[in-house]
Amino acid sequence: MKCLQPIDAADLADYWIAGLSESEEENIELHLLGCEECSTRLAEVMALADGVRKLAGEGSLRMILSESFVQAAVVKGLRVREYAPPAGGSVQCTVTAEDDLLIARLAAELGKSKRVDLSLCDELGREQMRILDVPFRAEVNQVVYQESITHAKSLPSTQMILRLIGFDEAGSELPLGEYKFEHTRSMPGPGGW
Ligand SMILES: [Zn+2]
Repeated sequence: MKCLQPIDAADLADYWIAGLSESEEENIELHLLGCEECSTRLAEVMALADGVRKLAGEGSLRMILSESFVQAAVVKGLRVREYAPPAGGSVQCTVTAEDDLLIARLAAELGKSKRVDLSLCDELGREQMRILDVPFRAEVNQVVYQESITHAKSLPSTQMILRLIGFDEAGSELPLGEYKFEHTRSMPGPGGW
């Protein structure tokens, strides 16, 4: 049987690393149950995606995580350090040698957004990096951002501002929230970039 609606390879990879929303995940699962062709292709991307998942599990990537990914990490026994500053607020944060993953839970009203970007800014609010079109679920009203723990462990005491920027149907910007992280270095040694 030839598959009429083959699942995109990128979606298969996201599915495997638990990077999809619950409803997307369910759709793919349903399709895979009835489609041998896509199941075979999933087996092919699994080998590749395992590498990505390993990196993500090591906490060294800056990426958006799904709740299921975080839960899976906890179940695996990884130490997850989480911060959840309110929109417009700030939080004191740090990272220790024992931590495996460092995540920020960014709460925002996402319901009106068609697309959401995450902007990573320095202490003066100057954008240093932007993650475009992050996966989000409007009903959850939160984006889970993983900071690279390798990077965080090397940081001196510093401040970082994260901003969620939404875009509506017409492409107009909707400021969703700004979150300030006041990082205190608690690792031994001098710290530097
Ligand atoms: Zn298929």
